[in-house]
Amino acid sequence: MQPEAMVTTLKSLKLFGMAQAIEELATQASPAFLNAQSILDSLLKAELAEREVRSVNYQMKIARFPAYRDLSGFDFAQSVVNEALVRHLHRGDFMESAHNIVLIGGPGTGKTHLATAISVQAIMHQHRRVRFFSTVDLVNALEQEKIAGKPGQIAQRLCHADLVILDELGYLPFSQNGGALLFHLISKLYERTSLIITTNLSFSEWAAVFGDPKMTTALLDRLTHHCHIVETGNESYRFRNSSTKTNREDKTRKPNSI
Ligand code: ADP
Ligand code: MG
Repeated sequence: MQPEAMVTTLKSLKLFGMAQAIEELATQASPAFLNAQSILDSLLKAELAEREVRSVNYQMKIARFPAYRDLSGFDFAQSVVNEALVRHLHRGDFMESAHNIVLIGGPGTGKTHLATAISVQAIMHQHRRVRFFSTVDLVNALEQEKIAGKPGQIAQRLCHADLVILDELGYLPFSQNGGALLFHLISKLYERTSLIITTNLSFSEWAAVFGDPKMTTALLDRLTHHCHIVETGNESYRFRNSSTKTNREDKTRKPNSI
């Protein structure tokens, strides 16, 4: 590392005193500094690497994934999912313009697995801030903060995330009030924070979950404006792998219609 790069690195680590001292030693071209340059370089690199590991571990922890999943653990041969699309999304570019992803399919078809794998990659390789929620838990939390007289706090926090996962939308119904709170949250995140929603419902069924057709139309309008839709089909991976292998996957099967 050149002295200028060292100074920049030290400042990025908020070690301003050291940055200033090195700047001075470098300008004086002090022999002591020149002798120590390579060890300083190694120490700085070690510190950077350690902080990166700590930061990734911290982000993985606060994301609150139900379980660790990655794409290498996903068997595309056992899924009707569009592999090229999934691999493209896994690269994480969709977050740059706050695009969304909706994973649609029956239970056990890998929706949570894929949502987690994409999010884990975003943390590990792009240092993104991610929050994973079961949709029902999030709606309950939104209701609770409203009752406690502190509406908007969750939204405020989530606006600082790069990616929010709403898992299992539609598995359990929520109250009309809860639906409205979720709608407001999604509106706040719109074009700022990417969303990944996993659901077993086709879009035409969403009104039943939100309890208000007009609001659902407005929500779908925002959500699908910049949206990648990934269909995972209806054949449960678990079911297929626990039953005898007589019903091998049939890739010609048409996935869920939207
Ligand atoms: P969903 O969220 O659609 O209900 P999950 O993602 O929870 O389904 O998948 C159920 C289980 O099956 C998980 O343990 C998941 O890792 C596994 N699974 C699903 N699809 C695949 C697949 N194609 N390859 C490997 N494991 C899979
Ligand atoms: Mg799931």
